[in-house]
Amino acid sequence: MKKREIPFGRPQIGDEEKTAVAEVLSGHILTHGPYCQSFEELFADRIGARHAITTSSCTTALHLSLLAQDVKAGDEVIVPAMTHVATGHVVEHCGARPIFVDVDTATGNIDPGMVEAAITERTKAIMVVHYLGLPADMSGLMRIARDRGLAIIEDAALALGADYGGKAPGTIGSSGCFSFYPTKHITTMEGGMLTTNDDDLAARVRQKRAFGYDRTLNERKVPGVYDIVTLGYNYRMSEAQAAVGVCQLSKLDGFLERRRNNAESLRQQIADLDVLTIFPFQQDTARSSYYCVNVTLPADGSVDRGAFISGLNDAGVGTSVHYPVALPMTTYYRDKYDYAPDSYPIAHWISQQTVSLPCGPHVDQEDVDYMAARIRETLTRLL
Ligand SMILES: *Cc1c(COP(=O)(O)O)cnc(C)c1O
Repeated sequence: MKKREIPFGRPQIGDEEKTAVAEVLSGHILTHGPYCQSFEELFADRIGARHAITTSSCTTALHLSLLAQDVKAGDEVIVPAMTHVATGHVVEHCGARPIFVDVDTATGNIDPGMVEAAITERTKAIMVVHYLGLPADMSGLMRIARDRGLAIIEDAALALGADYGGKAPGTIGSSGCFSFYPTKHITTMEGGMLTTNDDDLAARVRQKRAFGYDRTLNERKVPGVYDIVTLGYNYRMSEAQAAVGVCQLSKLDGFLERRRNNAESLRQQIADLDVLTIFPFQQDTARSSYYCVNVTLPADGSVDRGAFISGLNDAGVGTSVHYPVALPMTTYYRDKYDYAPDSYPIAHWISQQTVSLPCGPHVDQEDVDYMAARIRETLTRLL
């Protein structure tokens, strides 16, 4: 079999994006202009949210979500132990304390039972991460949030295109946050989106996103006449990024179909390999956005992950790890909060023994067949 090169992720940028960026650059409006506005409207429409607000990244959308809930020093926010570092860092940025909870073995998602056990009188919000695009148990989590009067912030960075009983992740909790980093479902180079159905929250977020002005650029009839009513940031997206986003969003359905077909085909072809646990793409009414095919090796270490990854990489198959260290076990958090090494066993297992395989729109059927063959071959060699 001839060697192929299959990177884990590769952004799909076409002539439409290049033309749109060139158009922005030859005009006079480089930021908070018509492209940002259309991207917001199209995105809100696409996922069924009342508001979509462009941001400079998913991280800044997450930070704005916490600020909009008035999360501050002395508060606690529940965060899954297995997530991107951004989900924890934004809690720290607010001066609050992240309370990490371990995740479900089968899906890597936060478990409502463990969330409930971690709630104290200081708890203000729950960060829900839809791990690798499979929606978490939102009905269980929303019930807890309602009973305890807590906000739910959905980190939907990998969940664009997922479905939870007919609803899009990012439209169920108090607010949702999306990422348009190059390896995500669609890209704006860097960029993010905050979604919400709450009009007041949307207004607070727009204000915090832009320095704390009391009125938007359009509302400033007399230029330069405004007041600052809150401590705000500059977390905006540029017009060139939004122009790319508008083009990318129009291609999302095609991207998602490719992802689904690739992932399902790969899953079927490696399903008989008992040594691999393949994370599910469906659970009850939850349907994944197919970010990647995530396989986990036995917890007993009988297959060496480093050797498995090198075997695949040497054969040209790109891989990723989500995430290489359980967040509370990273030096920053471990030093600050003094966690015992075995505090988050499931997150730790996933961090040590998981391998993410590509299924993005840059992957074709021949690539999938090739990956399946190389996975089988590498495992046979290592066992
Ligand atoms: C990528 C990612 C982020 C951070 O997104 P940025 O746009 O890079 O800030 C946060 N959470 C999760 C789950 C992610 O995958």
